[in-house]
Amino acid sequence: MIGTRPWQVGPQQATADAAAVRRWVQGHREGAGSAPIWSANAPGELLAQLPRTCPPVITDIAGVLGELEQFVVPGLVRWDAPGWFAFFPSNAHPHALLGDQLGAALSQQGMLWMSSPACTELEIRVLEWLRQSIGLPECYAEGGPGGAVMQDTASSAVLSCLVAARDRATDGLSREQGLHAAGPLTVYASDQAHSSVLKAVQLAGLGRAHFRAVPVDKAFRMDAAALERMITADIAAGLTPCFCVATVGTTGCGAVDPVEAIAGVCAAHNVWLHVDAAWAGTAALHSAFRPAIVAGADSADSWCFNPHKWMGVNFDCSCLWLKDRTPLIAAMRVTPEYLRNPASEAGDVVDYRDWHVQLGRRFRALKLWMLLRCTGVEALAAMVAHHVELACWFEQQVEDEAGLMLAAPRSLGLVCMRHVDGDEATQRLIDAVNASGQLAVTHCRLDGHLAMRVAIGTLDVEQAQLQQLLRVIQGAA
Ligand code: PLP
Repeated sequence: MIGTRPWQVGPQQATADAAAVRRWVQGHREGAGSAPIWSANAPGELLAQLPRTCPPVITDIAGVLGELEQFVVPGLVRWDAPGWFAFFPSNAHPHALLGDQLGAALSQQGMLWMSSPACTELEIRVLEWLRQSIGLPECYAEGGPGGAVMQDTASSAVLSCLVAARDRATDGLSREQGLHAAGPLTVYASDQAHSSVLKAVQLAGLGRAHFRAVPVDKAFRMDAAALERMITADIAAGLTPCFCVATVGTTGCGAVDPVEAIAGVCAAHNVWLHVDAAWAGTAALHSAFRPAIVAGADSADSWCFNPHKWMGVNFDCSCLWLKDRTPLIAAMRVTPEYLRNPASEAGDVVDYRDWHVQLGRRFRALKLWMLLRCTGVEALAAMVAHHVELACWFEQQVEDEAGLMLAAPRSLGLVCMRHVDGDEATQRLIDAVNASGQLAVTHCRLDGHLAMRVAIGTLDVEQAQLQQLLRVIQGAA
């Protein structure tokens, strides 16, 4: 009988414990609008409260939740607060959370098709639904030469694609003999691209010296003509251009690189083009924004966005589409004896272990599946439209305020602004907002000057929070 061994939990206790946790979570989430957003913890504060050796077990779930409340909660940052305008949203929709719970409870290990056919095939199909929902072209469709995979993060996705591109550019020599044999390869992204690109260059062994930060235009979009000049100069110097990242929605101000023009340059020089739409990709769920988000996708080699940012799939969930899966699989595949099995040997199945760095993988598809089945694309598209509408309203308020100015054109739900008196005054605004308790913003640097980023996109944000933000800003201006 289950529950008689000391490590087992009987069904009645499991049900009661789950109900208690569920009630606690409900109460915690309901407090999102009133709790302080930033943790007031000093560095080491939680560590100082926890014993250095593992304490005795608490048999009562209420006791454990009491410890959670006492020790852990003060160190939380409320990314779920409606007044969260910092970084980008990292939404955890209730339906996605249920899917994630199912994924954990079903205890699947999806490294091979054979180790969990359901984990593999639900992922394949749900990514095909998502592809169609955001209007990514047929060249990325299920059943074609490419396909799609869920990775933990956009950082892992760009690293995976860079490794594939590296091996493709060297006909596998970099994989078999190392880069010393294959020669120096160069990588390009705009000077506004996410730091994960440079990190991937470091990790893939290409060397930071071979990363080229391409200049941007006045709206912070990559200058495709400058890219062409840089690639041509590198070829003349005996280097091999291999990989380029176009960003659709930069981290700083949400700029959208001209993917079509960049793709033309990349195609002319046999350079792998990866599109990083980590944040902005969600906007393609709405038909009004879709064309701008997926423009040029058909000319890229890989395309990635993070449902774990704006869309509501709780972290982690990054979706990567490839036009041709062969180079990625060639770069990733190593087959020890113990993983051999008839389905893989026959070549009839997808083994996702060959699509990313790690071997083991969890059942991430369930949280996306649950969100699509229970909430649906139309509702999520309405959420995007609501956020963009709020951002338009806020942009107008900034423009109407004499002491404030836009630091960049608004992009979807992201407004970058500054004080007309310069960095010190802008910093004062940022500090005032973050000291207010229920509002949070972060900064970026554009044209060498500080800007306050207002990233509108949490599940429960309304105009009320933006009005409150405006009042705090006006008070500090
Ligand atoms: N790309 C862009 C444009 C981003 O804004 C971010 C993070 O904000 C990333 C990549 C990295 O995302 P991840 O945490 O999934 O690696």
